[in-house]
Amino acid sequence: MNKYSALSKNELQSEIEKLEKRYNGYKEQKLKLDMTRGKPCSQQLDMSTEMLEIPAKELRKAADGTDTFNYGVLDGLPEAKALFAEMLEVDKSEIIIGGNSSLNLMYDAVGRAMSLGILGGTPWSKLDKVRFLCPSPGYDRHFAICELFGIEMVIVDMKPDGPDMDTVEKLVSEDDSIKGIWCVPKYSNPDGITYSDQVVDRMAALKPKAKDFRIFWDNAYCVHHLSDKPDSLKNILAACKSAGNENMVYMFSSTSKISFPGAGISMMAASAENLNSIRKSMTIQTIGHDKINQLRHVKYFKDIDGISAHMKKHADILKPKFDLVLEILETELGGKDIASWNKPNGGYFVSLNTLDNCAKEVEKLSLDAGVVLTKAGATYPYGKDPRDRNIRIAPTMPPAEELKKAIEILCISVQLVSAKKMLA
Ligand code: PLP
Repeated sequence: MNKYSALSKNELQSEIEKLEKRYNGYKEQKLKLDMTRGKPCSQQLDMSTEMLEIPAKELRKAADGTDTFNYGVLDGLPEAKALFAEMLEVDKSEIIIGGNSSLNLMYDAVGRAMSLGILGGTPWSKLDKVRFLCPSPGYDRHFAICELFGIEMVIVDMKPDGPDMDTVEKLVSEDDSIKGIWCVPKYSNPDGITYSDQVVDRMAALKPKAKDFRIFWDNAYCVHHLSDKPDSLKNILAACKSAGNENMVYMFSSTSKISFPGAGISMMAASAENLNSIRKSMTIQTIGHDKINQLRHVKYFKDIDGISAHMKKHADILKPKFDLVLEILETELGGKDIASWNKPNGGYFVSLNTLDNCAKEVEKLSLDAGVVLTKAGATYPYGKDPRDRNIRIAPTMPPAEELKKAIEILCISVQLVSAKKMLA
């Protein structure tokens, strides 16, 4: 197919007529397809059922004799720390086990900084201005935390190997109101990008003007590969240590998309000084998290090989869905120069960029034909995509047949909106 920009007005017009016929064909089917949910499908969830069948008596006693049914153990059972330290490639002393949600840990980390400050620094809420760098497109719930606390968000562009580090280095070193940066360093949400070693090294070597600047390293998709040749991510905590910056990073992850979203285990890794300070307020906040669930995860997965084998089964379910999406994108949009998209090696999303100022219209047109897409703009701070072009596709949840129809409708909508724009 020729580039749309090379088509004459008549050719574009006849293209629109053909597309409208297909579009109306779908519209008549009165479909209701939901593409918004970056959730595992039920087949994936079924895979972890066995974990819930471990008898209670096997979950009662931790290796050190702790009665998991009772109160106690603030920051995680040693065996849970050992398992997830392996997953995050940190030392057992560098990890805290949380509750069922890493987002909750991130929210708490920001909330603590706002109300109590970090390692003796002024509480952020007492400062005139607090700003966060937000590599975008990014995860809307990170941005929502900033918005709630009145933290001003500064967009940083994503490049193929991670955030634009020239901008990050400049802003962080010049401006002490910049207190943090959100990073999803592996199979990023939504771009599916894994930060290169150079980006990790530059991130670790930042020289922030604010001494209480923190990198919020949300490694939500650390083991969520879709390929036999997975991306590899350099260890940021080790890199920060080498650069003399060991307090600069907070790492987060969870088993939400390994075992059960909403009923998994979350974790945070950081330097001893950071974790000691966090434990001091955590001990006021809770007597301890769910040790039964921690032991259940340890008994089920056993070690990192257990987690990897389980993730391979997730990939067996997900890979065909991602392949289907990519195939339709290529067939419908390839070579037309009206859209670009990523081909992720892992994670949960495919990120589609339309021509500028088209995403909202595409969202509306798709909706009119029964396909609900993630709101255009949601992947940017304040819900405002400055170029109105990014659409997050979440292929995991819908069955293949629904997914196929939804992506076809999305692609027809992209072509219609682009062709009409070019004719206008
Ligand atoms: N971080 C990222 C980047 C995510 O995409 C998600 C969920 O989609 C989460 C965190 C939520 O994690 P949790 O379920 O551990 O709160």
